[in-house]
Amino acid sequence: MKKCDVLVKGKAKTVYTTDDPDKLILHFRNDTSAFDGEKIEQLDRKGMVNNRFNAFIMQKLEQAGVPTQFEKLLSDDEVLVKKLAMIPVECVVRNIAAGSIVRRLGVEDGMALNPPTFEFFLKNDALHDPMINDYHIRSFGWATEAEVARMKELTFIVNDVLSKLFRDAGLLLVDYKLEFGRYRGEVMLGDEFSPDGCRLWDAKTREKLDKDRFRQGLGGVVEAYEEVARRLGVSLS
Ligand code: C5P
Repeated sequence: MKKCDVLVKGKAKTVYTTDDPDKLILHFRNDTSAFDGEKIEQLDRKGMVNNRFNAFIMQKLEQAGVPTQFEKLLSDDEVLVKKLAMIPVECVVRNIAAGSIVRRLGVEDGMALNPPTFEFFLKNDALHDPMINDYHIRSFGWATEAEVARMKELTFIVNDVLSKLFRDAGLLLVDYKLEFGRYRGEVMLGDEFSPDGCRLWDAKTREKLDKDRFRQGLGGVVEAYEEVARRLGVSLS
């Protein structure tokens, strides 16, 4: 597979075209950003850890029947994926209240949510990713009613699979963000799943082991990601 041109340079990943029009290469960089790109730092090893972590999770999800864009690991920081037509919305499930929901609704940080909540956000940094609902998605043509239903269904299957996977490793899956795209008429999971896009707490101490360490300046960011990987049995080089 030949890597060709840069298609998109995102905040943490660069997307390359390949000589196969149906495939892309994602390069996981060490750049780490928060607050819509206002805070950016280079964190050694982060690209490698997130690439390997993402590959591990995507394969677990595939085994559980969730279609994903994942094809194969190419190197420490690169993965081959199917080229999806991305749907410009973020799907967020929360099992425990933390982050923006605490600020928006004034609910208690750390409160268990039963049932878990589901939220859609529009992927738009300039507008600070505003929260939207199913009707916005359909009225503005970002996705069809069937695609909206499928994104919700897959996002909750992911919750069942990953909550258990993390629980067995002594971790709480607090919340996470997923992005989907279309491939040959099917909705598939795209983007990435890594500690950059979810909250993970130690089940006993509730220590934060995710990107909140970066957002809140707690330090030990990559060390925390590596600890999560170690507990799950993800092999890092
Ligand atoms: O900020 P908020 O509490 O709404 O984030 C919910 C979850 O979605 C968190 O796990 C966060 O890391 C993730 N997220 C993300 N990318 C965004 C917004 C949120 O990965 N643009």
